[in-house]
Amino acid sequence: MSMKKNIFRTCGFVTALLTLTFAHCSKTRQFDLVTMTGRTMGTTFSIKIAIPENSGQVQEALEKQIYALLDTVNMQMSTYLETSELSRFNTYRGSEWFPVSPPMALVMGYAQHISAISGGAFDITVGPLVNLWGFGPEVSPDDLPPDAEVQKRKQLVGYINLQVRKDPPALQKAIPDMYCDLSAIAKGYGVDVVADYLLARGYKNILVEIGGEIRSAGHNHHNKKWRIGISSPVTEPGIQKVLTVDNCGVATSGDYRNYFEKDGIRYSHTIDPSTGRPITHKLASVTVLHDSCMVADGLATAINVLGPEKGYEFAINQNLMVFMIVKSDTGFVEKMTPGFEKLLDELEK
Ligand code: ADP
Ligand code: MG
Repeated sequence: MSMKKNIFRTCGFVTALLTLTFAHCSKTRQFDLVTMTGRTMGTTFSIKIAIPENSGQVQEALEKQIYALLDTVNMQMSTYLETSELSRFNTYRGSEWFPVSPPMALVMGYAQHISAISGGAFDITVGPLVNLWGFGPEVSPDDLPPDAEVQKRKQLVGYINLQVRKDPPALQKAIPDMYCDLSAIAKGYGVDVVADYLLARGYKNILVEIGGEIRSAGHNHHNKKWRIGISSPVTEPGIQKVLTVDNCGVATSGDYRNYFEKDGIRYSHTIDPSTGRPITHKLASVTVLHDSCMVADGLATAINVLGPEKGYEFAINQNLMVFMIVKSDTGFVEKMTPGFEKLLDELEK
């Protein structure tokens, strides 16, 4: 497949979730494995479909359609495309309702919901700070941003300044210079779009991945549950844990995928809106399982901002299936919610 332009924030290092398949077993008695890979949203994607043997050549038309779907999501939600709906809303300075597509209102609505339940840890209006720290489309300076600039940009941040209307779909801003960044949730949404499309076309056995965010349905070409590896923070690209999943969205947020280092300090692309600075706690990665990959994606970022203790508390209160890898003095420790543990037990059966 052809290379597409980097549009969302690039994942510089390993993807946190690796799909595990074995190339030499690409064909079995009953199923063929169709694999598609390419680039979208500034990262890679991979799609695997187990189809009944000898069901014909499906790939070319499907690939075209999938690229069209992903291009549409980019044209709606990318901050790297000046003409995207999101960029047009960001440059709009008015206080009237700004009409958008239904998917934009849907994703924005979920983003606002995750902000509300996470006490503002997740906040798509954090864009001016993301850009200031060099993780957005703005050119990043060599030095760390001065505190005065951090404080100035913080004034533009706050999800309560954004209103979302579903019908007719529209957005409204209370601060003319506010800037929304959907990078923490749009990849998950893109995964859902592709997965829902494939399921609607009758492909029941699929694994869709964009930049490490995944959704699975049915089984693989060996007629077994799909296997997903959660990357280890130490031995890249080692695997910390393998999940066998059937119908599920899986998203990981971590400090070892997209960051820069200065004077021995690692600066994550995840920004704590309350400080205006990259997160600094001991949570190395958090993986969230949810029916919707979009929701899993947003929640993973929210929990990553909250950190190992508050994030865990939040996951318990929200009854979520969450797996964490936390740095300790002696290495890394795993922490999981009862919901995740229960699921592990059930899935391993
Ligand atoms: P991760 O998988 O590590 O969470 P994502 O790509 O899902 O990474 O989200 C990180 C991106 O989200 C950042 O590059 C930035 O654009 C944006 N972002 C950073 N901090 C926040 C935040 N507190 N709330 C919402 N979006 C954020
Ligand atoms: Mg995310």
